[in-house]
Amino acid sequence: MSTAPASFGHRLLRWFDANRRDLPWRRTRDPWAIWVSEVMLQQTRVEAVRDSYERFVRRFAAPADFAAASDDELLAAWRGLGYYRRARLLRDGARRVVAEHSGRVPSDPAALAELPGIGPYTLGALASIAFGHAVVALDGNVERVTARHRGIRTAVRSSPARERVRASVAGWLDRDRPGDFNQALMELGAMVCTPASPGCDRCPVAGDCVAHAAGLTGELPVKAPRRAAVDVQARVAFAARGAEVLGVRVPAGEPNAGQIELPGAGVLVDTGEPELAAALRRRFAARVEIGAELARVRHAITHHRIVLHAHAATVRERGRLQWFPLDEPTPWSTPARKVFRQILGADGTGGAMRA
Ligand code: SF4
Repeated sequence: MSTAPASFGHRLLRWFDANRRDLPWRRTRDPWAIWVSEVMLQQTRVEAVRDSYERFVRRFAAPADFAAASDDELLAAWRGLGYYRRARLLRDGARRVVAEHSGRVPSDPAALAELPGIGPYTLGALASIAFGHAVVALDGNVERVTARHRGIRTAVRSSPARERVRASVAGWLDRDRPGDFNQALMELGAMVCTPASPGCDRCPVAGDCVAHAAGLTGELPVKAPRRAAVDVQARVAFAARGAEVLGVRVPAGEPNAGQIELPGAGVLVDTGEPELAAALRRRFAARVEIGAELARVRHAITHHRIVLHAHAATVRERGRLQWFPLDEPTPWSTPARKVFRQILGADGTGGAMRA
């Protein structure tokens, strides 16, 4: 007598139950904490999220706490995670929860989908993990596992491939444990079916995996060609006064709004050294003498590879530029912090300047 092979979902969940990582956000059923973790985990590594998550949910234990956060508190809480737009959208979402749902995250997927910052992925994760709704959550890990397992040979981000991925995952979804199923599929992608070297010999769903059987794990998923990288040389002025540094706050509506940058011609503007003083006069009505290069740091924004040159500067008139403290909670941008580390030492807080 033959027995039917265990379903994809059953094999996956059995593996997950035995191998799941113990992560802080897996120890809670609080929808707000799960929402925070899912937003942080987008485009950020688990290890980087771990500490930030625990600090964040201690400081902002409920949507109402974060809804009341100032811009500077928001930027400080999100430091190290990058992509600050996510934090602003999360705060917009928290404010909506306070205004329209008495401060409680709604359990209805239709109401969740109306909240700012909740796209299809976050909706699927939150609805299934926090509330047990049978909704799929598709992220890059899930796309990779599914494209390999189903042998999808079209570019994985194309609409037809996405539709196939969604249909496959919806067919596999375990309706009794949808939250665990979604986490298990993502975990499989993160721990076993990894981009460069999938561990097919320890994969619970290898038995019917098309890519494994056909020797196509190196070819799948098919990626669209990347945009060519563009190299940019940018320059900024570094002027210090005691424990303060001259900076400019990024205006509302621009990427990284609210952060403090070192003054320059613009982070993606290719400048030579002689143009820096003129740019500061034009942009900020500041009169600054530019001296030697003090630091050179690398930074990437989308497909731009930026080499940022920081020059010593002597301030004659600061115009619309301002002196900002080096220390917390000033939300200095990541490139500015890299410059401080080079010029001022490991912690970047300028002990030398305060001596
Ligand atoms: S068998 Fe290999 S390629 Fe297929 S899903 Fe498992 S790890 Fe990925």
